[in-house]
Amino acid sequence: MTARFHRLFFALAALVAVFGASSGLHAQFRFDTVVIDAGHGGKDPGTIWYHRVEKHLALDVAKRVETGLRAKGIKTVMIRRSDTFVELDQRARLANKVPNSIFVSVHFNADGKDFGKNGAEMHYYGPKGLYLSQRLDAAFDRSVKLGCTKLVQRKRLVVLRETKAPAVLVECGYLTHRTNSWLCSLTSHRQAVANAIVSGILASRTR
Ligand SMILES: [Zn+2]
Repeated sequence: MTARFHRLFFALAALVAVFGASSGLHAQFRFDTVVIDAGHGGKDPGTIWYHRVEKHLALDVAKRVETGLRAKGIKTVMIRRSDTFVELDQRARLANKVPNSIFVSVHFNADGKDFGKNGAEMHYYGPKGLYLSQRLDAAFDRSVKLGCTKLVQRKRLVVLRETKAPAVLVECGYLTHRTNSWLCSLTSHRQAVANAIVSGILASRTR
């Protein structure tokens, strides 16, 4: 009787282990809407280098992401679609009103002390954000020529910390880096960046 109980116990434990492992392999999310957040806006231009203004570039990429996602049948909500200022906590509040969604914020980077720094960066807060960041990272590595893409955990960034949905903040290249900055000024490059964001989002989605 005891031996049979043990066999049953181990069989159940093995089942739990198998299902646990397999659910880990399918960590994609179920969502039908992407909240797209173009960084900065209005009185807040973001970073400005070589006459390139972050708020304008971010809105341009955000709109391209919107178009790309809609073409794939995914609903979108834009935090801003013109040159307007929206507070950070207001962005998170707006995002939290959208059910079945993920949150993607678009920014451009700068480092006025290290002009050699280049590449895109995926900023995240929790484990779901990390998973989303990894999918975007892979898509950037395949098709965006900014240099290597980094994952960066951010504990205090309001739009990541306060959004309940899986969230990522994409830094689409360094405006302080001469070549990155020049690339970011090209429409074709910003389209490639948007395409990579869209394909990373699609890769994170459960079909
Ligand atoms: Zn920014």
